[in-house]
Amino acid sequence: MTSSKPTIAIVGYGSQGRAHALNLRDSGFDVTIGLRPGGPTEIKAKADGFTVKTPAEAVKGAELVAVLTPDMVQPQLYGEVIEPNIDQGACLLFAHGFNVHYQQISPREDLDVVLVAPKGPGALVRREYEIGRGVPSVYAVHQDRSGKAEQLALTYCAGIGGARQNAIKTTFKEETETDLFGEQAVLCGGATKLVQAGWETLVEAGYQPEVAYYECLHELKLIVDLFYEGGITRMHEFISETAQYGALTRGPYVVDDNTRAQMRKVLEEIQDGTFARQWIAEYAAGNANYKAMKQADLDHPIEAVGKKLRANMKWLGNAPASAAKAA
Ligand code: NAD
Ligand code: MG
Ligand code: MG
Ligand code: MG
Ligand code: MG
Repeated sequence: MTSSKPTIAIVGYGSQGRAHALNLRDSGFDVTIGLRPGGPTEIKAKADGFTVKTPAEAVKGAELVAVLTPDMVQPQLYGEVIEPNIDQGACLLFAHGFNVHYQQISPREDLDVVLVAPKGPGALVRREYEIGRGVPSVYAVHQDRSGKAEQLALTYCAGIGGARQNAIKTTFKEETETDLFGEQAVLCGGATKLVQAGWETLVEAGYQPEVAYYECLHELKLIVDLFYEGGITRMHEFISETAQYGALTRGPYVVDDNTRAQMRKVLEEIQDGTFARQWIAEYAAGNANYKAMKQADLDHPIEAVGKKLRANMKWLGNAPASAAKAA
C-alpha cells in the first residue's frame, strides 16, 4: 500500500454499500462498484455516476475491497469471486463481523482483514455525512499483514464520515455479538414485540385500535428522540411527573427478572453459535420459516391501523428514514 487513499472496490450497493460509496467518493477516494449484471441495484449505482463492473472485475486491482452484500451471500461470494481475484496484500473490509467471527469466511493469509461498522442505517450514514456530521462507528482488525491494517480501517472510517465522531476500536467478536444482541433483544426484536404486546393489551381490553396505535407505536419516536439527544435523563426532563412515576414503578413489571433471564439466553445463543447455526441453516433451506414469521409481522393488525393513520400524516411523504435499513 503506497497511496494514502487506497483505491476501493465496493461489492454490493444496498443500504450500506450506496452510503459508503457516495461518502467515500465525496471524500476523494477512487471507488468502483462490483455488482451482478442485471441485479436489482445496478441501475441505481449507474444513475449515481459510478463505474459498475462485475464483482470479479471490480475486485481486481483494488487496494481495498469492501464486502457490503447481505451477510448470508458473503461466504460463497468470497470463495468463488473475491478470493480468486483480489490482489496479493490487499485489504478486505467488512461492515459486520458475522462471517469471519463464525468462521464462514477464512480470509487468505496475505490479506489485511478489517471491520468498519457504522452504528446506524445506510440512509443515515449518508445524510449525516452530507450535513457534516457522522454516524458513530466501530472498527477492528482481524488480520494485519501490511502493518497498516488499523490505519486503513481508520482511513475508510474517516472517508465514510464515521471518524468525525469518536470511532471506537473493537474486535470482530465484540462487534458481532453486541450487534446481534442489540438488534435481537432491544432494537428490532425487543422493540417490535413490546409495541405489539402493548397494542394488543389495549385493543383486547376494548380500547380503540387507533388510539392504542398512537400510545404504543407512534409516540415511541418522541421518546427515542429524547434518548438519542440526551439519554434517559432528557426523557425525564420532558415527560410529566405522572409519566415519570408510572414509568419508574410499572416499567419493572414489564422488564422483570424473567425478561433479564431471557435476554441472557439470547446472548448465550449468540455466544455459543446457536443463533448463527440456526440462521445459516434457515437460509440454506430456502428461508421458509423466516418468510412465514416475517409475513406474520406484516399481517399483524397494528399494521393496517397504522397504514390508515399514516395516510393523513402528510409530513411522512418524503421521510428519508423510510428508505433506511437499520441493523
Ligand atoms: P443490502 O441487503 O441492503 O444490500 C445488498 C447489496 O448486495 C445489493 O446491492 C444487492 O444487489 C447486492 N448483492 C446481493 N447478492 C449479491 C451477490 N451474490 N453478489 C454481488 N452483489 C450482491 O445489505 P446491507 O443491509 O447494506 O448489508 C451489508 C452489510 O452491512 C452486511 O454485512 C450487514 O450486516 C452490514 N450492516 C448493515 C447495516 C444496515 O443498516 N443495513 C448496518 C451496519 C452493518
Ligand atoms: Mg401518551
Ligand atoms: Mg401521559
Ligand atoms: Mg446487524
Ligand atoms: Mg447493528
